[in-house]
Amino acid sequence: MSKTALTVVPPGSTIGMLGNGQLGRMTALAAANLGYRVHVFGPDQDSPCAQVAATETLAAFDDWAALEAFARSVDVVTLEWENIPTATIDFLAARVPTVPGSAVLAVAQDRVAEKTFANNLGIGTAPFRAVNDVESLRAAVAELGTPSILKSTRMGYDGKGQVRLAPDSDLAAAWESLRTDAAVLEGFVTFACEVSVIVARRSDGVMAAFPVVENRHAKGILDETVVPAAVTPAVAEEATRIARALTEALGVVGLLAVEMFVTPDGRVLVNEMAPRPHNSGHWTMDFCATSQFEQLVRAVCGLPLGATDILAPCMMKNLIGDDVDQWHALLAEPGARLHLYGKAEARPGRKMGHVNRPR
Ligand code: AMP
Repeated sequence: MSKTALTVVPPGSTIGMLGNGQLGRMTALAAANLGYRVHVFGPDQDSPCAQVAATETLAAFDDWAALEAFARSVDVVTLEWENIPTATIDFLAARVPTVPGSAVLAVAQDRVAEKTFANNLGIGTAPFRAVNDVESLRAAVAELGTPSILKSTRMGYDGKGQVRLAPDSDLAAAWESLRTDAAVLEGFVTFACEVSVIVARRSDGVMAAFPVVENRHAKGILDETVVPAAVTPAVAEEATRIARALTEALGVVGLLAVEMFVTPDGRVLVNEMAPRPHNSGHWTMDFCATSQFEQLVRAVCGLPLGATDILAPCMMKNLIGDDVDQWHALLAEPGARLHLYGKAEARPGRKMGHVNRPR
């Protein structure tokens, strides 16, 4: 549980951002609002973040010469993608404050490590077994039963790298389809709803949690976030306690988003966590006293954390693929707040923007 003196990186400084997607873009916009410059580092041409950042390095995460120059040009480094190689984070951390650190990423990059970490703190998850081949998959299915979900341990997101198993599933085919040698079998959780909590933490240990929100998924991708979540005060308190406990135990500096299942009998189980801004926090841009992106800047720069009060009950809807074609009607809708990410091509399943609305 790392806790250090607070180093303040004042406005006018340059924040280095690893990863150049929409989360980096919205962080860069919030940073600019507080007088910071953002230098984005990532491998993608014409990226959502590079379009709004002050400076860009277009390079791979193992381009050490580019990373060396990047480290010299920034005052603090953070990230918008938890799968940045830990070697990259360690290289930068030896040269410039880099948060969250590689120990946090090592846990967040691996579904087995993530669930083990939570369980070791007494926090519940779906029952799970690590699986490395068809034989260990058969053994795990014999123990956990079906329905269950087979997920690749690393690099899974938005329902990718997952197979649902039913009693009659062909296990050999399911294993082949994942194309991995490290997976996890999870028992299927019958949930009443899915919720998430985002916690900000500074290097001196000061934390602030955003309110509990409800997430509705479609085809494994977040579709809508409803704010606040319609859960009992006891469930909200427990979800917040869990998210804060994980943030503190991991020693996160920046943000930690924790996705959880709420069971019909009111238990709260951790599904996943991500040490970065999260899609379920996009509502904060228009309906919270402080946006998650500004809060990230505040946390990594050692500024006072902002208030997290809900300004009005609201809803966030993702615009996936050609949903984005509705932009004209959404702009005409009273009260709707449209955010587009500047992506040229609206491929199916691609997050193109979102809309926040009062409800
Ligand atoms: P994930 O990539 O782990 O966040 O999974 C995407 C979505 O699939 C989750 O938000 C849930 O809706 C569903 N899901 C994942 N794991 C489970 C599980 N063990 N039991 C029930 N539903 C799950």
